[in-house]
Amino acid sequence: MARTFALEIVTPDRLVLAKTVESVTATGVAGEFTALPLHVPFLTALSIGSFGYRVAGKTEYVFVSGGFADVSPEKVLILAEAAELPEEIDLDRARKARDRAEARLAVERQEAVDYTRAKAALQRAMARMKLHQVARLPGSAPSGGR
Ligand code: ATP
Repeated sequence: MARTFALEIVTPDRLVLAKTVESVTATGVAGEFTALPLHVPFLTALSIGSFGYRVAGKTEYVFVSGGFADVSPEKVLILAEAAELPEEIDLDRARKARDRAEARLAVERQEAVDYTRAKAALQRAMARMKLHQVARLPGSAPSGGR
């Protein structure tokens, strides 16, 4: 029986990751799921945040936002608006994005759409900061970006 499958993460700009993996655990809009080899096909939108995949018994993490997972028996394809490996995350940029989002959220009588956008920007920034800080420490898993 197959023990591995392909994981590909693609954004409009680039191929972020193409690896042979043992599992993928991510948070979809309907909750967390783990894809294993020969998984039944399904398609889901992903929450903003980090998700994990296992390679040679070790869990690695990647940040995605605006993502969809297309799960099939031999492949998990993630199509995302943005995705970064931990080492690609610019911490200073994420901090500035967090500060901007927090300043927008602090202003009263925001238009609802601005509020939603600022909240999403804050979620991206916090998830990037968290992944940058903890992804490489043993035992610390960046959870769902919140
Ligand atoms: P910013 O306001 O700093 O642009 P953002 O959350 O609005 O942050 P996105 O729209 O999610 O940015 O991403 C736009 C592009 O910039 C993507 O290619 C994404 O990978 C990249 N990017 C955004 N923030 C960072 C970061 N902190 N480190 C590395 N790449 C980033």
